Amino acid sequence: MGNLRLGNIHEIPGPVLVVTAHPDDIEIHCGGTIVQLVAQGKDVTCVLCTSGNRGTDNPAMTMDEIGATREKEQRAASEILGVKNPKFLRHDDGDLAFTMPQLREEIVRLIREVRPQSVITHDPYPGNGGQDSCSIYPDHTSVGMTTFESAYICAPGSLFYPEHLREGLLPFKPSKMYLIMSADPDFFIDITDIWQTKLAAIRKHNSQGRYKPENDHEMERINKENGGRVGVERAEAFRLLLPT
Ligand SMILES: [Zn+2]
Repeated sequence: MGNLRLGNIHEIPGPVLVVTAHPDDIEIHCGGTIVQLVAQGKDVTCVLCTSGNRGTDNPAMTMDEIGATREKEQRAASEILGVKNPKFLRHDDGDLAFTMPQLREEIVRLIREVRPQSVITHDPYPGNGGQDSCSIYPDHTSVGMTTFESAYICAPGSLFYPEHLREGLLPFKPSKMYLIMSADPDFFIDITDIWQTKLAAIRKHNSQGRYKPENDHEMERINKENGGRVGVERAEAFRLLLPT
């Protein structure tokens, strides 16, 4: 494990591209960081690979219905964070491991369009799930792996998707990657001052029970635990990678 370090929000250069698997991943794991990046005037693009369209245990609901509900919740949460127009790639929830080839082309295209200095995504190798079983759910690791590969190898390589070049999208390599849901975080951002904003954004994910007081307590516990690791009240945790 590397040294744990309390980072400064100014260290995360914009533009910033955030790529996650499901509605609510962003708010829970890096919402407080994003609020502060937006407040600094940085350009933040949020991408959801699925619309969480299997996220229900109610047999009366269809995939279209739950997907539409969760997109609406995500838009409301994004508005609180100050992020405009979250992008939905609309792969089916739970199937990302099967759609990686198409997903890779889409993420490479986004990197070449947005040209982000910083990419925030899931840790492709988040440990064994002992700390957070959700981290090894294949939707999360598939997004992490595909985004990692896209940023390091494909987006900078002119022979990957040469049709992009013909459309005027030039090769590009981000300079920093911040990985969420890692078992081995080494970079922390203080979110103490904007805690209530983060919580308000999380609570917008009604269909997932995120409005419940027990969810508030769980979020509080995790963020306080992260804060305690670097001597602040509340923090969000990342594993920092510098593409070379
Ligand atoms: Zn998720």
